Amino acid sequence: MKFSKFFAPTFKEAPKEATLPSHALLIRAGFIEQNGSGLYDLLPLGKMALDNIKKVIKEEMDASGALEVSFSVVTNADLWRESGRFNVFGKELLRFSDRKENDFVISPTNEEAAVSMVRNKITSYKNLPLHLYQINTKFRDEARPRFGLLRGREFVMKDGYSFHANKEDLKREFDVMEATYSRIFTRLGLNFRAVEADSGAIGGSGSKEFMVLAKNGEDDILVCDSCKYAANVEAAVRKKREFKGERPQSNMPAKFKTPNMKTIDDIANFFNVDKFFTIKAVMKKAIFEDSSRVVVFFVRGCDELQEKKAIKACGAIDIEDASDAEVAEAGLVAGFCGPINLPENAEFYIDNELKGEHDLICGANEKDYHFIGFNVVNFKDERFCDLVAADEGDTCAICGGKLHKTKGIEVGHIFQLGQKYSKMMNGTFLDENGKSQAYFMGCYGIGVSRLIAVMIETNHDDLGCIWTKPVAPFELVVILSNAKDEEQAKFANEIYENAKNLGIKVLFDDRNERFGVKMNDYELMGFPYAVLIGKSLKEGKVEFITRANLNREQVAKADIMAIIKEKLC
Ligand code: ATP
Ligand code: MG
Repeated sequence: MKFSKFFAPTFKEAPKEATLPSHALLIRAGFIEQNGSGLYDLLPLGKMALDNIKKVIKEEMDASGALEVSFSVVTNADLWRESGRFNVFGKELLRFSDRKENDFVISPTNEEAAVSMVRNKITSYKNLPLHLYQINTKFRDEARPRFGLLRGREFVMKDGYSFHANKEDLKREFDVMEATYSRIFTRLGLNFRAVEADSGAIGGSGSKEFMVLAKNGEDDILVCDSCKYAANVEAAVRKKREFKGERPQSNMPAKFKTPNMKTIDDIANFFNVDKFFTIKAVMKKAIFEDSSRVVVFFVRGCDELQEKKAIKACGAIDIEDASDAEVAEAGLVAGFCGPINLPENAEFYIDNELKGEHDLICGANEKDYHFIGFNVVNFKDERFCDLVAADEGDTCAICGGKLHKTKGIEVGHIFQLGQKYSKMMNGTFLDENGKSQAYFMGCYGIGVSRLIAVMIETNHDDLGCIWTKPVAPFELVVILSNAKDEEQAKFANEIYENAKNLGIKVLFDDRNERFGVKMNDYELMGFPYAVLIGKSLKEGKVEFITRANLNREQVAKADIMAIIKEKLC
């Protein structure tokens, strides 16, 4: 490609809202352009990077035995009604109706479409398993689209759906996908971890996320320093916390007046005990399909409630903070809520780590009173769940090592769905015994357009992007320093043609621009290598540049093709 015929507008400054390096650099280097909130156009360079990522994904997915399909981006809402998700999905789902008043959605994910494609066609266990995938546009009306391609509203996803005759075969495919994803992210040159994403799944593997380690990541992950355990904080478990200090003892639950002491800090200071021995009541409004109610979650005063775990515990779609009025209406006393003397119909859950614990301080469900000497006994087992957020320094539940917190960007998610969608949508087959069963399903996603940004978020410097070879739109740039110098132009053209003939993706910067402009653009766009043909050609020399470390090496012009071949063929 000749730069003079190419379209890659570059900019000195990025728009103010581009706060992350990947967002700013991809705009400045002419890869992407924003045209609305969470909406981006890809310029030629962006499209080339996307296609290179797609190619790696497709090669590995095809090698795994999955078959590529393409679901329509606009999906009939009836399918979403069948699965029960039309009303449940929330505002991220973009719903609209056509001229005939029929409802549609723009696919945020395609489980429904996948079941619809397979049901009534795969009717025997003999034709299972089957794995269908696509690389296609998704739309999610995200509450806070931000960080450029990292969290857009429209984005490209690789989504796959597998169908199996039993759980064991689903687990086999899940493991195949874990290996496939690992190969994909390794080929892309990313530093990633597959982390547990499902609470209670310790040692199990119902759901795993692939996280690229990056300081600007939106996800917190905990990684063990001595075994392979790694998990999203939303799912991370830990060994039960212990505390050797003095307990606030009392012979029986005794009620103390604690005027206006509404926080755990107030209580711990007043009784001069560690927060470990207090119980915190976190009151939330749990949202269900067509109702909502206040639910109380009890955790130790030194712990934080993990919201995803809380949602799972009460089976809600989502939870939000309960207002003072809602708390009062539920008969609860904010600041003085505890597990004893709760209103009869109050819904509450207690963290597993509190089970059987004794001599604790908790609210008395009466304004300005707390109990001390409370024992967490005589509660039904169903009340106890894993509710707390594991944190930096906690002990690994598997090996006793220390857990460390780090940031990650989710680039993939693999999930053993089971029979949820197939049952709702009548996706059935006859098993070996002639019995009708719903398919066992898995689903597997990769954020393809997000990966463009991830490549740069994890690989850039002050001057610009640094692309790895498999994703770089061009592997080599031939920079002609002075387009008016005939000797330089002739030699540069020769190198360009030779490299092209070797199958190398090469950009020939033949523009009639100042050398400084060309060099700045090269550094900003960040392709792996460049050959600079300038004044020293007269002495038979050219320069070979490596973008990653900005190493510049003078080499004899006779040797340059050998060097290019060595690096790129
Ligand atoms: P997140 O927690 O980041 O919102 P998710 O759990 O909603 O992700 P999935 O539904 O599992 O994501 O989608 C599969 C993949 O699609 C994710 O792993 C991620 O890489 C990508 N993805 C999800 N939402 C977006 C988005 N708004 N913009 C770009 N990529 C996205
Ligand atoms: Mg999401």
